[in-house]
Parts: sequence; structure tokens; C-alpha cells
Amino acid sequence: MYRSHTCGQLRLADTGTSVTLAGWVQTVRKFGSITFVDLRDRYGITQLLFNESLNARLDEQPLGREFVLQAKGVVNERSNKNLNIPTGEVEILVDDFTVLNKSAVPPFTIQDDTDGGDDLRMKYRFLDLRRNAVKRNLELRYAVNRAARNYLHEQGFMDIETPFLIKSTPEGARDFVVPSRMNPGQFYALPQSPQTFKQLLMVSGYDRYYQVVKCFRDEDLRADRQPEFTQIDCEMAFVEQEDILNMFEGLVKNIFKEVTGIDYIDAVERMTWEDAMWNYGNDKPDIRFDMKVTNLKVPSTVFMAKQEEVKQSPVAGETGFKVFDEAETLVAINVPNAADYSRKQTDELIEWVKRPQVGMGGLAFIKVNADGTVKSSFDKFFNEEQLKSLAAYCNAQPGDLVLILAGREERTRKAISDLRMYMGERLGLRKKEEYKLLWVLDFPLFEYDEEGNRWVARHHPFTSPKPNQIETMIKNNPVIENAADYLNHPYANIKANAYDMVLNGNEIGGGSIRIYQRELQEKMFAALGMDEHEQQHKFGFLLGAFEYGAPPHGGIAFGFDRLCAILGGSESIRDFIAFPKNNSGRDVMLDAPSAIDDKQFDELQIKLDLK
Ligand code: ASP
Repeated sequence: MYRSHTCGQLRLADTGTSVTLAGWVQTVRKFGSITFVDLRDRYGITQLLFNESLNARLDEQPLGREFVLQAKGVVNERSNKNLNIPTGEVEILVDDFTVLNKSAVPPFTIQDDTDGGDDLRMKYRFLDLRRNAVKRNLELRYAVNRAARNYLHEQGFMDIETPFLIKSTPEGARDFVVPSRMNPGQFYALPQSPQTFKQLLMVSGYDRYYQVVKCFRDEDLRADRQPEFTQIDCEMAFVEQEDILNMFEGLVKNIFKEVTGIDYIDAVERMTWEDAMWNYGNDKPDIRFDMKVTNLKVPSTVFMAKQEEVKQSPVAGETGFKVFDEAETLVAINVPNAADYSRKQTDELIEWVKRPQVGMGGLAFIKVNADGTVKSSFDKFFNEEQLKSLAAYCNAQPGDLVLILAGREERTRKAISDLRMYMGERLGLRKKEEYKLLWVLDFPLFEYDEEGNRWVARHHPFTSPKPNQIETMIKNNPVIENAADYLNHPYANIKANAYDMVLNGNEIGGGSIRIYQRELQEKMFAALGMDEHEQQHKFGFLLGAFEYGAPPHGGIAFGFDRLCAILGGSESIRDFIAFPKNNSGRDVMLDAPSAIDDKQFDELQIKLDLK
């Protein structure tokens, strides 16, 4: 028996018990003739006391950091208690010990605030994983996993594995490909998600499926992406959107309850995609704070339902101020209690929006002073009355600061959203301990792909259009005659039965009600520019399956890593993955990817000829 207890187990009540512990040496402290060792394992730290009688053996076999040690002894009440740790009231009076294994000096300290930089920690990730901070993250990840599985199991979902070696059908992201030795010259792809498999499982009658599953996407890695990541992937048959929203609201609430103890009794808010874009400039708004966007001017081709409203804006027509008059879109936010911003502070904001990531030419502002007078950055062009009416239209109260952006629709809308988030952060309105869940509904079915001047699926090609817009999709030619005018194409306004779940400004899950009739699926593929041959080649199996009694179905997938990171209060999903890759998609511990042997190429009948 290597151990009778763990290093996190013993308490005052165990005093006098003979125990055997095994673990890693955290620290060795020698005081005169006695030696203290902190012994650590996954469960905690226990102090060992080696008295004089063991000195000769300790001299013979000195203990170093991270040595694997087995110690036998009796539990003793400590005179100098450490009440910060659960085992801090006791120590073990060691009477025998065995060094089970030695350790080289670790390249960084195995402590909460380690001296190891990111690269070093990743290279020695197996040591990094010994640290409490990282262990806590993995424990949280497992708790989320369990809470999800328990809930889904109770709801009758079945975990069914789907293959990793599949067919390459790139749509959206790039596939990772794997050569097949037994089929020379042919390649598998790693799944970007089990999407088509879970739909086939619905055709097979497994009407509630789930999987906590790896997905692979060969994308350029923006700051916090991983080439392989995990989804909680779900699908249900015989459901409408409302059924899905209720079921998965339940899932997320259960995760919250079990992992954070927060009993989420509020219904999750709901918002259409259009309202999210209109009011927040963003399809995953952080609704922990208000600061909604005021739309002062928008092009006539978007937000059709809002066109009448925007005509009421005091700057909808000519104003004599070129920046406003020439802008396609004019949007504002009202920042409460910021009218006293100094020149330096407003200059800072101007510089902030001019940064390439935001890409604005500048920023106009109106200060509504506490006494009701106004001061703006464009006083030359607006008189006091005009400024007051504009500020009032933006809901400004005395003491507030109105920030206005002008430019092309897409960029300006994104910029006002960025600015809103930035100001929310500055004013401390994005509180870490507050969680706000939101469903964003009715996403557009298509997205314009500038490079190819064509329509691509906004979610994926299996997403069903809103039933009353199917005709619009079928009747109209997908070809975009005039790229600059794509917003006028009838496809631009078709909405989908697609939904995202948003938590504190992060998309944590997304899904849709699917197409389940062959004819409609073919029409959808055609709308995306796929001819019959390509449809058959890429998705023949799915079209075929739809001929054999496919039930109405829909589903969702949650980004498991992201959900864990948010619940753990971290910005980075890497902290919640045992063996993550770096920003260049490398595993620095394995040094992968790497070259392969000539023999392997021979077996694959592949010759490397790098361009
Ligand atoms: N497979 C989809 C995705 O990965 C999610 C879904 O539609 O269920 O985004």
C-alpha cells in the first residue's frame, strides 16, 4: 500500500493515527536539527516533520523539490497552526520514509503565482498541471462536464460517438486532412463538428443525442482560439425552436447551479438578431449594462422594420456638418456621468477609435453639463438648440457624455459596439460576478462573402430558412450583379430558424432548426452556388438519407472550453484545456506538428514538394 490517506485529508480529529502519505515535495525547510517538508498531491498539502533521529538518513538521501516521497508516521497537533489550509492544524511526525523517485530541479516553481513564463509552462505542461491554479480550472471543467451529462442523461439524451476520420467538405472553416495509406492519394478530414452525423442519427430515430466532443478547424488562430476544441453537441427530433430553447436553457441553468451554486431562476432574455444589432451593434451583446446605441442615420437597405423610426432622428437630413451628412451610418451612445471628461480624456477616446482594430476616422461628442448647457466637438456647425435636441434624442441627462461615430454601416456599427464595451469596462459596468444569459434569435440565413462575391451560410447549410421566406430563397437568383449593392439583394433579408446563446457578451452556444426535406436542402445548396454534381459529391449521403423518412429536427452546440473559461472568470480558454496549443497551433511540449519519416511518405505514396 503506497498510502493510507491523501495529502488533503487529515484533520485534528485524526491526531494519534498512524498514516502513510505519498506525494511530491513542495518545500524543504531545515530548522536546526529538525526538517519540515510540505508534501503535496492532487488533494492538498500536509506538513511532515522529520526529527533528529532521521537526520543521518536525510543526509544520505537529501530531498529536493518535486521528489516523490512516501512517509510513514503519526498525526500530531501542530503548535504553529496554518488556518489557511484545511490540513493546517496537523502535521505528521515521520518515523520512516522512502524516496519513490527523484526529480530534476523544475524549471519554474510549482506555486499559484509561479515564476514560469507562458512558453516555459507550456513546454513543461505536465509540471504546470501540478499547480493549484491550473488544477482548479480542470476541476471546474470536469464539474461542467458532469453537470451537462447529468442533465442530458436525465432528459433522455444518449451519448453516441461519431467518427473522427470523415470526408472533407470544407464550408466555412478549413478542414484538417489526414492521408489514407490504404487508399493512396485519398484523404480523410477531421470533423469541424459532428453536424451531419447527428442529423443522420435523427433519421435513424435516436431522437435525443448528445456528445462532449472534439472538433477540428484549421483556422488562423485569433487570440483565443484552438485548432481542436470541445463542444457539448446536441440534437433533438420532433422539436420546434421553442422546445430547443427551453431544453437548453435548462441545461445551462443546471450547469450554473451545480458548478457555481447560482440558482438561475430568471428566464433567459430573448432578443432578435436585428434588435441586437440595432440596440448594441453586436450579435452577442453584453446585457449586464444598458448604454444602448441610438441610431441617428442608417442606409435604407438594412433594418427595414426600423426605417420609419430613424426618420425621426434630428440628423436624418442635411445638417451642414459634412462628417454627418456624408456618413452612411451615424450612431451614438450616451455615457452616463461622463460630461466632466477632460480634453485629455476625450482626446484619448478619439485616439482609441482611430486605432486600426476599430478603424474610425474620429469621434464626435456632446457634453451635457450638470447645469444643462451643452458643449460639443462640432459647435461650429450646430447651434445650442440643435445640440440639445440631438443630446436629448440620445437620451442624455445633465452630466452625460454623448459619443457619436460616423462612417460605413458595417464598420461603424462594429465600432460603436466596441466603444460601448470599452466604456462599459471603463465605468466598471461589466461586473465579473454577474451573469446575464440571452438568446439571440432569427439570425440571417446568408452572409455575403466579399472575396467570392457570393452568399455563404451564416450558420451552416443545413439551417432552415424562416418558413415564410422559403419562397424568397427559391424564387430569386442567388447571383449578385452588383457587389457594392449586395444589401439590396433579396437574400440579404432572409432570416433563419437559428439561435445563439450569449453569456456576458460571449457566444457560448449556437444552433438551428434544420432542413429535413431533400428538395429544400437541394435548393439551399443551390442558393450557395453548389451545382448538382458538387451537392452529390459532398453531401449525397445526407440527401439520400432525407429520402428515408427524416423527422423534423434541430439542435445546438455549446463551446465547452469557452463556457468553462467564463465560469472560471478567465479570458483564456487555454487555461481550461489540459494540453493546449499555442497561437501558431503548435504543441510546444510535443513539438508538434513536425516532419515525418521518408518511410511514412513512402507508405502513403506521397512525395513532399513544398511550394
Ligand atoms: N454544428 C454547429 C456548430 O458547430 C452547431 C449546431 O448547429 O448544432 O456550430
